[in-house]
Amino acid sequence: MVTLSDLGEFGLIKRFSRQFIKDLPEGITGIGDDCAIIPLNEKEALLITTDMLIEDSHFLIDKISPYDLGQKSLAVNLSDIAAMGGNPHSAYLAIGIPVRQEIKWLDKFFLGIKDLCSKTNTYFLGGDTTKSPVRLVINVCVIGTIHPTKIKRRSTAMPGDIICINDSVGDSGGGLKILIDNKPLDKHSSYLVQRHNCPRAHIEEGKWLAQREEINAMIDVSDGIESDIHRIMESSDVGAEIEINKIPLSEQLIIVSEKHDWNAREISLTSGEDYCLMFTVPENHINTLEKDYVQEFKRPLHKIGKITGNQGKLMITRDGKVIDLKKHGFDHFKQKNEKI
Ligand code: ADP
Ligand code: MG
Repeated sequence: MVTLSDLGEFGLIKRFSRQFIKDLPEGITGIGDDCAIIPLNEKEALLITTDMLIEDSHFLIDKISPYDLGQKSLAVNLSDIAAMGGNPHSAYLAIGIPVRQEIKWLDKFFLGIKDLCSKTNTYFLGGDTTKSPVRLVINVCVIGTIHPTKIKRRSTAMPGDIICINDSVGDSGGGLKILIDNKPLDKHSSYLVQRHNCPRAHIEEGKWLAQREEINAMIDVSDGIESDIHRIMESSDVGAEIEINKIPLSEQLIIVSEKHDWNAREISLTSGEDYCLMFTVPENHINTLEKDYVQEFKRPLHKIGKITGNQGKLMITRDGKVIDLKKHGFDHFKQKNEKI
């Protein structure tokens, strides 16, 4: 008997999605990328995405403030719009609330949503409210817009492309470990927890990168680099090489990892929820892109590897030597208690 833990989250999606991705009207992209794409006319397409957060699976209610949870529920969806280079338009919230939930708590949750909507010029236009028997369930949907010729997809990476990310990774995973293990909160560990509880969607960066024709493929890093590069590899029929020592780490993650004897490099490769952008670009364009990006955002890009023609094969190296990973990126059905 095949079980969910045999198939895994992505195996399950692949299994049921086959019947829904064929025979779609021309131009519509369904399951498989960060957002669905619905072209409206020659100048505009809609991007649509939805993400769910469930108490005890995605968050522990006494380890995150209601304000941060409101912001995070929206931010993880805005990140999928950013991943394709889009501009957020509106958000919709379906929420299942246990009767125990305090009104004051809910007021703060909605304030978090409101403030992030204001910050990102996103309208809040609807949803659904219902009672949940035990746990809080939050589902947000975001609609964005983009010029149809500017959309960045997971499926268009080319062998020889350089793989880049636009921020350090692993902070969110480190923050989660602090929360789960009840480690003391000092200046550095609090920073990691904040990065976990209040991630930033890279909307401006995504929009800027979408204008760059030389970028072939893009995704947001939601499940970890190791997992998300697999999404690009599968969609684009390519392979990849990643040099683990080129993955940028924050000073805070390094300090906290040393203190608790964690492997910061492994965390940076396999933990999720950092929500920065990962994209691929031909080698001959990388220098100009890097220069222009630094000028625009005053922060560097990080070259962490290369797309190869070795379909489906991910090679991780440390200082050029191939290594074997014990841990892998996040999958809801394959691991127990990994996200929380
Ligand atoms: P992301 O991490 O960017 O939110 P995922 O990797 O979780 O995206 O999902 C991969 C693709 O599968 C996306 O196109 C998403 O819309 C689709 N998908 C995931 N779950 C479902 C579902 N239950 N029904 C339909 N499509 C789904
Ligand atoms: Mg995504």
